[in-house]
Amino acid sequence: MRIGIIGVGNMGSRMAKNFLKAGVDVGLYDINEKALQELVHLGANAIETPAELARTYPYIITILPNSNIVKATIFGENGLIEGLHRGSMIIEMTTAIPTITKEIASNLEERGLRMIDAPVSGGVVKAEDGTLTIMVGGKEQDFEEVQSYLKIIGENIVHVGSIGAGHTIKALNNMVSATTLAVTGEALALGVKLGLNPEKMLDVINSSTGRSFSSEFKFPAQVLTRNFGGNFSIDLMVKDITIALGMADEQRTPMVVSSATYQLWKQALAQSDPNVDHTEVIKHIEKMTHAEIQGSKLEIVD
Ligand code: NAD
Repeated sequence: MRIGIIGVGNMGSRMAKNFLKAGVDVGLYDINEKALQELVHLGANAIETPAELARTYPYIITILPNSNIVKATIFGENGLIEGLHRGSMIIEMTTAIPTITKEIASNLEERGLRMIDAPVSGGVVKAEDGTLTIMVGGKEQDFEEVQSYLKIIGENIVHVGSIGAGHTIKALNNMVSATTLAVTGEALALGVKLGLNPEKMLDVINSSTGRSFSSEFKFPAQVLTRNFGGNFSIDLMVKDITIALGMADEQRTPMVVSSATYQLWKQALAQSDPNVDHTEVIKHIEKMTHAEIQGSKLEIVD
């Protein structure tokens, strides 16, 4: 098996490691040479340009910060388009804007080239374990063709519809995730002000109807411990919310709660380093409420 990957940051580097562990021949391209070094030591091949990567590898994963970068990587100078050949396929795993994804795919199709969108959920923990959720948009036969590759990095792999469908549900999922993180933060901060203990509140929420991935995992591991971490930036989360609201705008669909979520996250982003972990949105909520959600270390059961 042979695969090329463009973008070996938090997510792409872990995918690359799992492919290498499975004995796949892995070619890599990233503008950050440092990001490539460890993977090259593990047996990956660093390739000079996207064009060369596309000449050499039949399947190319793109897992990049945003749609514009994906577009430039495909159609820019020394882009994938210069090396792709009939039979090869781009597997676009970035959290990206569905309308741009569709434009790219249709441009490729006119040249007899193929792409599916296959964004992921589960963060670095699941990327490392090879247990990501992968939501795929594209033709059924293309999805089937790359199943054996996706199974190396993912566990729950769902074909959700035609091209762009994966990117659509991914943005909607993150909209929900951003909202649960923020609203749980607001509830806990208010509880602290009212004299309640954050750990006990989380115990109750996590065995009650208010629980979510944020309350079960992010708060115990990243907020109570004040660790926060740094594997999914606040900048990327705001990008995802923006994509979701952009889709709502196109559909002239009101998103009342989501719009409030968006404003809160934009405020937090404006006041922080864009590269800090997205869970630092809680620091912004704490500042506004004058309450700190702190506790002793809680063990995470996963
Ligand atoms: P990251 O910033 O850690 O990594 C991005 C990588 O892309 C970097 O190594 C960077 O050098 C490289 N890059 C940037 N521009 C490039 C270019 N023009 N050519 C080649 N390489 C380039 O980001 P990440 O956290 O790995 O996220 C990647 C994508 O996956 C994003 O779209 C994000 O929204 C999505 N995502 C992230 C997570 C997470 O938990 N981090 C989870 C799910 C989805």
